[in-house]
Amino acid sequence: MRLDITRRDFLKLSGGTAAMLGLSQSWVPKIALALEQAAQRPPVVWMSFMECTGCLESFAKSVNPSTADIVLDIISLNYQENIMAAAGTQAEADLKNTLDKGGYIAIIEGAIAVGIPEAMMVAGKTSLDLVKEVTQNAAATLCVGTCAAYGGVQAMKPNPTGAKGVKDAIGIETVNVPGCPPNPAHILPTIVHYLLFNKLPDLDSDGRPLFLFEQKIHDNCERRAHFDAGRYVGEFGTPEETLQYCLYKMGCKGPETHSPCPKTLWNAKQSWCVKCGNGCIGCMEPDFWDRFEDFYQRLPNVPIPGFVGVKTSADWVGSTLVTATMAGIGIHAIASAATGRYKKHPDIPVKEVPKSKGPSEGSED
Ligand code: SF4
Ligand code: SF4
Repeated sequence: MRLDITRRDFLKLSGGTAAMLGLSQSWVPKIALALEQAAQRPPVVWMSFMECTGCLESFAKSVNPSTADIVLDIISLNYQENIMAAAGTQAEADLKNTLDKGGYIAIIEGAIAVGIPEAMMVAGKTSLDLVKEVTQNAAATLCVGTCAAYGGVQAMKPNPTGAKGVKDAIGIETVNVPGCPPNPAHILPTIVHYLLFNKLPDLDSDGRPLFLFEQKIHDNCERRAHFDAGRYVGEFGTPEETLQYCLYKMGCKGPETHSPCPKTLWNAKQSWCVKCGNGCIGCMEPDFWDRFEDFYQRLPNVPIPGFVGVKTSADWVGSTLVTATMAGIGIHAIASAATGRYKKHPDIPVKEVPKSKGPSEGSED
């Protein structure tokens, strides 16, 4: 049975996709056409390796469009072990047929066991052999989730299986839509971009589509004004938490994480991590399990707007802004003091800039 999206929903989806791709609404008819013709476009093979199936679980929770709409109307999902109807020899025949024809989109979920290939085997084949097999005739390889993109939790030290992301494992170009799990609102626009332009999107140095991942969480966070003003949650269960102040001191990794989460949101656009009250853990960054090992440890030396070139921390800015506010001095004046520009303004007394006492130096409230 084929589920049809209503024309209204279809145009809504096309409009939303245009916005996500950074295109004007004049592109909506072209996107609608690309989606309508998707059935004649490259089919999709989704292969899972070392993972927890959270990526597929996330994809399966997609709404607007629903997973059924995506699978039945927008892409032709020829092979996915968890949700395909075929099984056994029929499923294997479908897979072989698709791989032999070529020109499909290979979606990879999960890391590849490179150090000890036998650590991950399906039907007698290692993940290393299988990923080569499933990507060799692909028109494009899309890695969904941080494991397929960068190795994820499997590659966390000491990485006993020598797990790697697909690009590092077999040396092919991949488009990475990371996340633990990835957001379906990031996966679909990436596929639509390919359908629309018939080429891969421009990527950042970590293989992520620039149209989605160019900016950092911190650039679009709804608590950013609190960060800039030096208002932070220092402990859960305090009035500052109730007031939804910035979570930087609670370990938020938003200042170093490239992702559009504050804009795309999660769960039918209802919420996202910071809105739920927890800092970002940086799940869309390579090596985040090691790099951000302590999710509640604040990042050291985060740049503060207006303090360019000054090695400072939110602790310093927070306390300095409070002092400055009481003294009636604005942020630009403080910034000028910090960067030495006060010397050019004879009316403003030059203050000695306090030595930065960054988080790494163990400053605590
Ligand atoms: S540190 Fe985190 S909570 Fe604070 S503004 Fe940046 S992203 Fe938002
Ligand atoms: S806000 Fe951070 S931790 Fe949450 S999904 Fe986005 S990148 Fe991952």
